[in-house]
Amino acid sequence: MTRLTRLPGWRRNLLVSAVAVGVFPSLLACSGGSGSDRAPVVVIGVDGMTWAVAEPLMNAGKMPNLQKLVDNGVGGVVRTDLPTFSPILWTSIATGTRAKQHGIAYFSEMGANGQPKPGGLPYTSNCRKVPAIWGLAGENDRSVDSVAWWVSWPAEEVPNSRIVASYAAQAQALMLWKPLVHDEGIPSLTYPDWLQEDIAPILADGHPSGPLVQQYNQRFGSVPTDWQFAFELDRFFRGVYHADQTHQDVFLKLLEDDGPADLNLVYFGSADVSGHYFWRYRQPDKFKYQVPAAHVERLGQHIDKAYEQLDVWFGEIMAKLPTDATIMLVSDHGMVASNLDAPQHKQSGGHDGAPPGTMVLSGPMVNNRGLLPQGKRLLGGIYDVAPTLLHWLDLPSGSYMEGDALRQHMTEAWQVEHPALPAKDYRQGFRAATSPLVPGEDMNQGFIDALNELGYIGEDNQPQTPPPTGDPKQADLIQDPDGTK
Ligand SMILES: [Zn+2]
Repeated sequence: MTRLTRLPGWRRNLLVSAVAVGVFPSLLACSGGSGSDRAPVVVIGVDGMTWAVAEPLMNAGKMPNLQKLVDNGVGGVVRTDLPTFSPILWTSIATGTRAKQHGIAYFSEMGANGQPKPGGLPYTSNCRKVPAIWGLAGENDRSVDSVAWWVSWPAEEVPNSRIVASYAAQAQALMLWKPLVHDEGIPSLTYPDWLQEDIAPILADGHPSGPLVQQYNQRFGSVPTDWQFAFELDRFFRGVYHADQTHQDVFLKLLEDDGPADLNLVYFGSADVSGHYFWRYRQPDKFKYQVPAAHVERLGQHIDKAYEQLDVWFGEIMAKLPTDATIMLVSDHGMVASNLDAPQHKQSGGHDGAPPGTMVLSGPMVNNRGLLPQGKRLLGGIYDVAPTLLHWLDLPSGSYMEGDALRQHMTEAWQVEHPALPAKDYRQGFRAATSPLVPGEDMNQGFIDALNELGYIGEDNQPQTPPPTGDPKQADLIQDPDGTK
């Protein structure tokens, strides 16, 4: 919450390096704490979460923590943009800008012709052309904890921050869980560097054959190996579950070690991936082919269980926060049944048409309106997230950002106490963007192979209908090469 409360963890490590390089006097000068009594801001990013799944669960008492968030604020939907590729949208959420401005145009490098470059490398944080919210907050004396945000590797050196980077959510199967990879050490996985050692045991537990296997089996059950197709989907989903549980454990550790920072961010992928893979089993009547009853019985609850697990994680996070925390739960888009006549397509849930995502704003300074009625749920757009977070942190919005702070959802009293500040151009002096980096030998090909296998890119995953061209402002920017994801 304040820098002061973060000192014990920082001090230990700062002391070591400060003594080593003989800068002890400057340590004393900067260790006084800001004395800020600012309530912590917490962002829970939930990829692909939709009320179509969450609302019935919440009404049945199966997402009690989501219910608490909604009861303590306002729940609705957030408008998104096309194309709905995670690296683009989560970077837009973190920067308040469109892909054209932030420069993350796809999973891997785009060519000048608007098509992915053959052999192009996955985008990395150094490719981003504008500062992200963690940089804006940290550079302006707000403390930050950020875990697993898209395109955050290499972890940026942001003052007052602890960053656990992700190369790409799917690639975490390769980046984070492989003991070999981990033992070799991924450079710049965290900032500061020492944090990597602190979280190493948690990363090790996330290994594909580690203790989370049992945990997953208890919650989701297992799939017979001779159900080859369903078995594969389950296998992919396990990877995402391992990643989410691992990131949750890392996030909780950060919250525990030094208390919440001024700004805390965490990302979860399992609502999106369960939706992609298991929609046909949850809602078989929607599809133009027969889904075997035995498979429906075994896999029909997977999406709901994934949401219930997310709710457990929400509750664990909420338990670590003071009552005055301001929480934003936000999705990059929603999810609907898709590829209705393509039984061999790995993805039976999708978001090509950019269905709106879920948004909940929660805390004592949010107007308490509960879950808004269907048809009247629009709270804002993804470009409003960064300006809103800045405003909550008492910082000016970015003059170049596409959206606006969602002041209308805050209480009258808060609005009076927190007048909008004149916008600022944070791009001034921001480092130049550079080409993608690769964390280790062969990792880029591993990433591309993994995405291919997971059904996100590649020739095996051609959609049955062309993707929508969508917003004309976006149409010239990016052509969806494969129409997937
Ligand atoms: Zn998705």
